[in-house]
Amino acid sequence: MHRSYDSINRRQFLLGGFGWLPFFRRKTIALEGARFRILRHGGKRRYLHIHGNEPTARETLIAHLARHSGTAYLIESQDRNVPIGRGGKLDPNRMFSRAGAEKNLRLLNPAWSGEQIRAALDSLDRGRERLVRALLPPHGGLLLAVHNNAQGYSVRDEIASSDQVSLKDPEHPHEFFLCTQAGDFERLAASPYNVVLQHSTPPEEDGSLSRLAARRGARYVNLECAIGKRKEQAEMLEWAEMNLR
Ligand SMILES: [Zn+2]
Repeated sequence: MHRSYDSINRRQFLLGGFGWLPFFRRKTIALEGARFRILRHGGKRRYLHIHGNEPTARETLIAHLARHSGTAYLIESQDRNVPIGRGGKLDPNRMFSRAGAEKNLRLLNPAWSGEQIRAALDSLDRGRERLVRALLPPHGGLLLAVHNNAQGYSVRDEIASSDQVSLKDPEHPHEFFLCTQAGDFERLAASPYNVVLQHSTPPEEDGSLSRLAARRGARYVNLECAIGKRKEQAEMLEWAEMNLR
């Protein structure tokens, strides 16, 4: 058994495929109750699935990574919110700033005392940078996050807080890209899909990763599709893969 296992690893090493050095690299990374499985497949690109109750996005991303290079971070949860502190809840896409996390903790944990809120925020502050450094791509790289929405939320909700908007597919407002850099907006606006650009600082900081990426000048693209739109999400992700260089 050992022998064939070694030869498989040796072959993967020689081919430069993913899975080499499997014993020296971390397989998960966490901030409070937000734990991410790491899938490494070479390259500079980063991918993120952060909401556990968005299975179409997760399936699309896993299938995508089998054919393209990049490192994916997949939340290990079936729920949107993750545990924090004693019996608390937190939306993991609201933990990327203290102000955003505070608003979200107050909303989701109305019975918590000010001291409980403060302790949770201090803990997030201590661990945040380590996760952010892992998620943000190296210079010139791109972070692509995949999300699903249900009824209600659509590109229309982002228009007011966007710097530029291109609605090539207004009949399908649930399917859209959100990006933080003008160059990516230009390319995505040439696609058949909806796209918004958000790179200036909004009056209200919501603690999302897109806002952190915008503040730090990192290339970030968010892909939103209605839940269940597997074919559409795969097609849009492929378009971004091939056209954002
Ligand atoms: Zn989401």
